[in-house]
Amino acid sequence: MDTESKVAAEEPRKVNFIEEIIEADLAAGKFKSIMTRFPPEPNGYLHLGHAKSICLNFGLAEKYGGATNLRYDDTNPTKEDTEYVDSIKEDIAWLGFHWDKELYASDYFDQLYEWAEEMILKGLAYVDDQTQEEIRLGRGTVDKPGTPSPWRDRSPEENLKLFREMKAGKYADGEKVLRAKIDMAHPNMMFRDPLMYRIKHASHHRTGDKWCIYPMYDYTHGQCDSIEHITHSICTLEFDVHRPLYDWFIETLGIFPSHQYEFARLNLTYTLMSKRKLLELVQKGLVSGWDDPRMPTLCGVRRRGYTPASLKMFCDKIGVSKREQLIDLQLLEWCVRQDLNARSNRYMVVQDPIKVTITNYPEDKVEWFDCPLNPAEPEGPSRKVPFSREILIDRADFMEDAPKKFFRLRPDGEVRLKYTYIIKCDEVVKDESGKVVELRCSYDPTTHPKSGEWRSVKGTIHWVSVPHAREIEIRNYDRLFTLPDMSEVPEDKDYKDFLNPDSLVVGKGYAEPALLEDASGIAVQFERTGYYMKDPDSTPDNPVFNRTVTLKDSYKPE
Ligand code: ATP
Ligand code: MG
Repeated sequence: MDTESKVAAEEPRKVNFIEEIIEADLAAGKFKSIMTRFPPEPNGYLHLGHAKSICLNFGLAEKYGGATNLRYDDTNPTKEDTEYVDSIKEDIAWLGFHWDKELYASDYFDQLYEWAEEMILKGLAYVDDQTQEEIRLGRGTVDKPGTPSPWRDRSPEENLKLFREMKAGKYADGEKVLRAKIDMAHPNMMFRDPLMYRIKHASHHRTGDKWCIYPMYDYTHGQCDSIEHITHSICTLEFDVHRPLYDWFIETLGIFPSHQYEFARLNLTYTLMSKRKLLELVQKGLVSGWDDPRMPTLCGVRRRGYTPASLKMFCDKIGVSKREQLIDLQLLEWCVRQDLNARSNRYMVVQDPIKVTITNYPEDKVEWFDCPLNPAEPEGPSRKVPFSREILIDRADFMEDAPKKFFRLRPDGEVRLKYTYIIKCDEVVKDESGKVVELRCSYDPTTHPKSGEWRSVKGTIHWVSVPHAREIEIRNYDRLFTLPDMSEVPEDKDYKDFLNPDSLVVGKGYAEPALLEDASGIAVQFERTGYYMKDPDSTPDNPVFNRTVTLKDSYKPE
């Protein structure tokens, strides 16, 4: 895999290879309109990889005037759950897409069963009594043809009787399977009598106890597509070996010719997207839940403050190809900043404070400054920011022995307090340990922003008035893993060995009062720091903010 850099951010998008296929199909009159589907298995929450598939499937239908079905691939009763079904709908709707029909592979269990009987009667399927292991060994290898099962030549009548008994619950799990009778020497291993049905005495989240036999993926997916007249069935590259079998079942049954096309899945640096591993993180308590803001799940990034627009922008930038690639997480963060920079409200918050006393400012005086919520719209909506004799500034904005290029506050130096006056540092107060605890400053009243005598100094810093400051909890998040390419976890290690111990740093902040009245519903900008999203854990006494992303790239290549 190679790392795609930020360059992708600058490139205009061309038509991708699937769009080329669709345009050719439409031009040739193969279809009047297109139909796509998004087929999640309801065994976990959707992640950023799914967002790519969703944007692609729904995006194509929008672009070419077609429609997209949401079809749950629910043929694995033991792993599936309605909790996941509901979350999937919520996440797709949040992204802003509308499905045509909500469907389930289980809706087609009767039809699939009928087709299986049809195949049995045509001598194209048989009941096999071998164990899973015997079947596996009998398949042979790529260089060695398989060995036919001793049960391969049962008569259609016997097969039908046994298959009906399987359905009726006469046999235990694993005792028998139904296999397609194709070719045990076929060069494509998929064709060496693939399984069609297995016995599983398990309750299904929708069909309950109606079935104790369940169809296999390969016997299900293509037919479901066909029933729904899906014109372009789009999936990830690992399914390309399944495509001939997909076609075989459709041709054998003589049903609507859906076609499958494969694209490269999304891989992101420092990120894992296997549902199985994400589930493990949740179950072991290594994250707070599926919606932990460090998770790559859509509910996680939503809670963190990523927006649907930023995810769509990202999917658009990375494009669609057949080449496996590892995308830089920074590209996603760039998209998030891009969207939030344009839309988010600004507030001042100090996280690591030093108290500043403005000695020549009257003790009881408070001035309220009218400050734009977004600097891009100076005449747009504003908030009122109080200024008083005692304020807080960030420790990082003061330096005693500052180098020349340090344009913030230093002893005897001047700085502009954002939206207000210029102050000068007259005295540095320290405690016994030598830590700076207070700066005694004076302000220049002629530098009021509306005084008309604008005097400029090099630096501008943010600040918060002490009597008006509101204490908040801040959860500063960083990437969950420390390994850039999580597909390269060494053999002798586990992916959990690469969890970043500093992925969450909880701290406090002191905010201007207007922050707590913000009703925008999206992440806000803490000026000069980053974007922050109010968390549902917030209470009136303890407002909580999640860091969505820092303002600038803090990333430094090694
Ligand atoms: P996982 O491997 O994370 O468990 P999955 O492929 O089993 O994912 P499904 O619910 O079967 O998850 O996926 C639904 C759709 O989303 C499929 O079409 C699948 O190809 C696609 N998809 C899953 N992961 C990615 C990814 N990383 N990038 C692009 N598409 C993906
Ligand atoms: Mg899957």
